[in-house]
Amino acid sequence: MSSHSGKFGTAINCMDGRVQLPVINWMKATYHLDYIDMVTEPGPDGILVAGASTQIESIKSRVTISVNAHGSNIIMIVGHHDCAGNPVSKEVHLSQTRKAMDIIKSWNLFVNIIVGVWVDDNWAVKPIGDPIRNE
Ligand SMILES: [Zn+2]
Repeated sequence: MSSHSGKFGTAINCMDGRVQLPVINWMKATYHLDYIDMVTEPGPDGILVAGASTQIESIKSRVTISVNAHGSNIIMIVGHHDCAGNPVSKEVHLSQTRKAMDIIKSWNLFVNIIVGVWVDDNWAVKPIGDPIRNE
């Protein structure tokens, strides 16, 4: 890669404007990244777990571009407080986000880390359990 290309990560995030900068800033700081490719949907945790296959394939195809073209080595899936696209309880969001991590792992993309996070009512980003690490 050329020296100016920088390090990319990939976020499967909600379309909600309140969670864009918190997710970008947290991911850049935590994983020492330069750019975050955003794949957005209304309530992506719910879509990955219970959405139509066409919706899931659309997310997967965009994540694959980020991984293959930008060399992203980390994929993050986001659930958040007050999600209009997926209006379920926090407990269901956490459960869906964990399941979504396994679904992303099943795609067998060449990434080292798959992390799930919850963005809380203060718009703070909190990891949900340990990331999945591919050795
Ligand atoms: Zn949302």
